[in-house]
Amino acid sequence: MAWVEALPSTEPERRRFRLKNPVTLEALGEFDVQSDAAVRAAVERARKVQPEWAGLEFDARGRFLARAVQQLIARQDEFVDVIVGETGKPTVEAFASEIVASCDVLTWYAKRARRILADRTVPVHLVKNKKLRIAYRPLGVVGIITPWNFPFLLSLNPTAQALMAGNAVILKPSEVTAFSGRLLQELFDAAGLPEGVFQVVLGDGETGRALCEAGVDKISFTGSVATGRKVGEACGRKLVPCTLELGGKDPMIVCADADLERAANGAVYGAFANSGQVCISTERVYVADEVADEFTRKVVEKTATLRQGAGGEIDVGSMITPSQLEIVERQVAEAVAGGARVLAGGRRNPDYEGFFYEPTVLTDVSPEMRLMTEETFGPVLPIVRVRDEAEAVQQANATRYGLNASIWTRDRRKGAELARSIEAGAVVVNDCLVAYGVTEAPFGGRKDSGIGQVNGEIGLRSYCHAQAILVDRFGGKSEASWYPHTAKKLTRMKRMVRWLWGTPLGRLLS
Ligand code: NAD
Repeated sequence: MAWVEALPSTEPERRRFRLKNPVTLEALGEFDVQSDAAVRAAVERARKVQPEWAGLEFDARGRFLARAVQQLIARQDEFVDVIVGETGKPTVEAFASEIVASCDVLTWYAKRARRILADRTVPVHLVKNKKLRIAYRPLGVVGIITPWNFPFLLSLNPTAQALMAGNAVILKPSEVTAFSGRLLQELFDAAGLPEGVFQVVLGDGETGRALCEAGVDKISFTGSVATGRKVGEACGRKLVPCTLELGGKDPMIVCADADLERAANGAVYGAFANSGQVCISTERVYVADEVADEFTRKVVEKTATLRQGAGGEIDVGSMITPSQLEIVERQVAEAVAGGARVLAGGRRNPDYEGFFYEPTVLTDVSPEMRLMTEETFGPVLPIVRVRDEAEAVQQANATRYGLNASIWTRDRRKGAELARSIEAGAVVVNDCLVAYGVTEAPFGGRKDSGIGQVNGEIGLRSYCHAQAILVDRFGGKSEASWYPHTAKKLTRMKRMVRWLWGTPLGRLLS
């Protein structure tokens, strides 16, 4: 069943979608899909106004973001209602991950962009008669394409970075959470952002494809590996730079010396928050043999206390769409058929009509099961017993994904050392799901989990071109390397090479 319902239309060019609430299954509203021409027009509008935006001082741009924060504070309940209505996530989670985190990123980049993107003078080691400045120039118009799992934050976070770097932004939010995406337009309009600097285009994959083709200067994509490949290909054809923030299959390693109480609490939260629909959800646990029984018992006990439902005092909400729920059902059924044992959950929650899947814990899984090789993106936690840390690391790395991982041990130094052997964009010791929330931390996957990074200084600079400005210092009439080429010059050059890289003093100076 297609969850985003395409409505019949008499005009062949016009497409209109209806969205529904995943908890109540009631209609939430309808929206028009923007045509390719409308997407191109948005890019043209953005291109016209971008130079003026880029010409503002950082502080002036930052003031618009600060005003957006005030709007967000004033309308937080209303915004959360829209997000919860579209996603079915618990209200507390929506506040924490969408509103709190959004206030933080808007403020962080507004305050720090001036320092991070200030021109830098870099000493030149060899060609001493040149002065080098690095200027972080905006790219121009940035297209941002985002998923549904954190529909507000994952749209706002790259937007805040791109805007502070002096770019205009076209956002294409997920069609599944179009109304949450549209809130960003309301937010920035209310903050008084000059018209055209930030625009939202609504639509599905076709609209995203049109944005990649519309002549933007960068695509910042967050979503699945499969779509990421298409976006990467489209950008490659156009030679448009892109960052791809994609899916994961994050491992959790529980060492024999872990604080098992904290590790079990972390496992349950890391696997079931947002119904497991977090790119950095804990999707596999590798626990040392000697503590496996106790850890598993604690996880199962804690899972049993979770309250599933909708609205206020609940822990686990619904999943977002029937197709997402079907992936989970399929993976769990296959695992059980292959010998896995269900210790908790393992089925749709029969108490609800909406897309609720019970928080599920499994053991006796094997490495070739799809549950262990493909992203599940649902509230499912398979636990694997391993001999020791070496086997845990080996199994953790035996995947095509490399987004995040966590290591649990009382020996923090050992945890940090083990982290280096994990092939993942970020590794957390004794915590989970925090890597995106620590604004300073660069975020991005390795292997199939992505290309490039967002967040922090590295992320902010990725919305710029680091332009090298080299200025001659002394203004002689000619340079040693210029014409004419003579035998004498060649002899001098050979002598220089022998001295500069062939003698101890030369090597010291070079
Ligand atoms: P998706 O790939 O289906 O869609 C993401 C966005 O891409 C949507 O806006 C969609 O309309 C658009 N799109 C679809 N086809 C397109 C095309 N051909 N060209 C351009 N755009 C196109 O992903 P989803 O189901 O919305 O989100 C879930 C996935 O996102 C999971 O795999 C999850 O792990 C991943 N994710 C990654 C991160 C991260 O930071 N690494 C964060 C959140 C989610």
